[in-house]
Amino acid sequence: MRNGEVSYWWQARGVPPRRPSLPGGTEADVCIVGAGFTGLWTAYYLKRADPGLRVIVLEQDFAGFGASGRNGGWVTASLPGSRARYATHPRGRSGVRELERHLRETVDEVARVCVAEGIDAGLVKGGTLTVATSPAQDARLRRQLEHERSWGDGPRIVRYLNKAELDSRVQVTGAAGALFYPDCARVQPAGLVAGLAEAVTRSGVLLYESTRVTSISAGLARTSAGDVRAPYILRCTEGFTAGLPGQHRTLLPMNSSMVVTGPLSDAAWKSIGWEGCETISDEAHAYMYAQRTADGRIALGGRGVPYRFGSGLDHDGAVAASTVAQLGRILRRMFPATAEAGLDHAWCGVLGVPRDWCATVMMDPLTGLGWAGGYTGQGVAAANLAGRTLADLVRGVPSPLTTLPWVGHRSPRWEPEPARWAGVHGLYALYRTADRLESAARSSRTSLLARAGDLISGIPH
Ligand SMILES: Cc1cc2nc3c(=O)[nH]c(=O)nc-3n(C[C@H](O)[C@H](O)[C@H](O)COP(=O)(O)OP(=O)(O)OC[C@H]3O[C@@H](n4cnc5c(N)ncnc54)[C@H](O)[C@@H]3O)c2cc1C
Repeated sequence: MRNGEVSYWWQARGVPPRRPSLPGGTEADVCIVGAGFTGLWTAYYLKRADPGLRVIVLEQDFAGFGASGRNGGWVTASLPGSRARYATHPRGRSGVRELERHLRETVDEVARVCVAEGIDAGLVKGGTLTVATSPAQDARLRRQLEHERSWGDGPRIVRYLNKAELDSRVQVTGAAGALFYPDCARVQPAGLVAGLAEAVTRSGVLLYESTRVTSISAGLARTSAGDVRAPYILRCTEGFTAGLPGQHRTLLPMNSSMVVTGPLSDAAWKSIGWEGCETISDEAHAYMYAQRTADGRIALGGRGVPYRFGSGLDHDGAVAASTVAQLGRILRRMFPATAEAGLDHAWCGVLGVPRDWCATVMMDPLTGLGWAGGYTGQGVAAANLAGRTLADLVRGVPSPLTTLPWVGHRSPRWEPEPARWAGVHGLYALYRTADRLESAARSSRTSLLARAGDLISGIPH
């Protein structure tokens, strides 16, 4: 089994040859730091709106090296944050509804661009299933459905599937039922980010790789190769943000780990079903997420080691052996037919988590400094919407996107160490114990430990 080497997605697709690094100091109209989905989508829409703009993207490694080339491949319309918190924005509940509507439309926008730009990302819009694998999880799903209805989401947006309805789609051992949300697509993430990077450079954006930005200030991005001066500098570094001066407590780099099976036999797929390629998660507190890949495997992820002291990062995606074993157990428990295929690859990456678990799109017109991120693990579609919004904000064009409630949202800073490390590790210890207790008890009550965890962390439900 391979471990790390960035991700299975890159290993399967092949990393393209390195693009040149910044040749020296220069000027641009817009300088974007980070070539993941946020930076690349922003560059894409800026150039489409104004082909004359000089846009430079600076990437410390290669385009898609970060979470964008390592994720679970869910293009999900799920809100990255809490409805109640976004509703404190002056636009209130209607602003939240607008943000959710735009996120749903974004799934189709990503699909549209894939067709328009000839991006081969194996995109299938099959929706997403949140399955219940214990009575407590099932009770939470039913409460979640009531909550969705109270926000006006009818059966077109979400519905409950009983066990027979779920089984007719996919066989998940121990699952009692599921919530089904049609607005989600599965992709091969490296295919999407590589195709997007090519589309962006085709449009005339200068994308420099192996170019690390060491500091950002008004009008200036510093690198060891020289300075880029631009009236607009956009920080699109999500889970890596803590590495920039002054940003140590802005976004917590939360780790997520994945494994992928070998190709499954026709007999295994016959017993599992899953022909609709829905993405799947469970309703555990330390939840899992999975997709049926375009090349006939199952890729499954979960939390693993949640956070490294001092906002440390992984080494090219290498995963602890205990995490690989834990994800393998979940996989075989939910899909016993995968035992025949074994695991081919494990990897991990960091996503950005703000202290209040709500994402932000920010543009300060006085300094020209902007940023977007903090999607808390729901960034694939959200980064497209954020990129379109940043493009409008930079161009100073008022649009339906620039008044959405995540624009200008300010999250508190994270606690300093060691409180940050102790808090995150304590939280996930609580969640794992709560999941074990709930599975063993066969009761429909959510464990008090999990409720305590939610209260302490502020994780939205
Ligand atoms: C394992 C995993 C699974 C996930 N699964 C899903 C999922 O299924 N669906 C979903 O919606 N979301 C998922 N996410 C989250 C999602 O992938 C991210 O939110 C999203 O990709 C963030 O995109 P980004 O461009 O903001 O950040 P990134 O993709 O992390 O890109 C940031 C880029 O900035 C570069 N960079 C950082 N610092 C500097 C610097 N100083 N100078 C120059 N360049 C720099 C990095 O090298 C990187 O390429 C997952 C994340 C992980 C890690």
